[in-house]
Amino acid sequence: MLDLRSLYQEVIVDHNRQPRNFGRLPHPTHHAEGFNPLCGDAINLDLAIDNNTIDAISFDGHGCAISTASASLMTEILKGKTMQEAEKLFQLFHDALVNDHCDDIEALGKLQVLLGVKDYPARIKCATLAWHALHAALHHTQQPISTE
Ligand code: ZN
Repeated sequence: MLDLRSLYQEVIVDHNRQPRNFGRLPHPTHHAEGFNPLCGDAINLDLAIDNNTIDAISFDGHGCAISTASASLMTEILKGKTMQEAEKLFQLFHDALVNDHCDDIEALGKLQVLLGVKDYPARIKCATLAWHALHAALHHTQQPISTE
């Protein structure tokens, strides 16, 4: 029996201690900055997209354990995905967390662990920040985005 709650804790601690794809890309094709004023989380997201595929993705910034772990997991899952697949994951993850509804929970893969954050509603924006930055980057939004 999988203990989702302890798995949630474990994944957050692991990705916060050793964030994957942390840093900046030398030649990003897409970029966005995101802020979550409620918690003080800030993220820079870089993507290198070639032929509609995410070849490289990285982030830096500072934030709480949940925002860092969420960004780290996001970069892991998005590498090699097409822009459409990335948008679809954004929608699925956002719906699952914010609207408590998901059309395809299996598609979320490892991201399902992060749904444990639903037990802490004040932290949901920490978990979605990186994804809002992704959405902005894919749409070449020039202004930094804010969760507020
Ligand atoms: Zn936070």
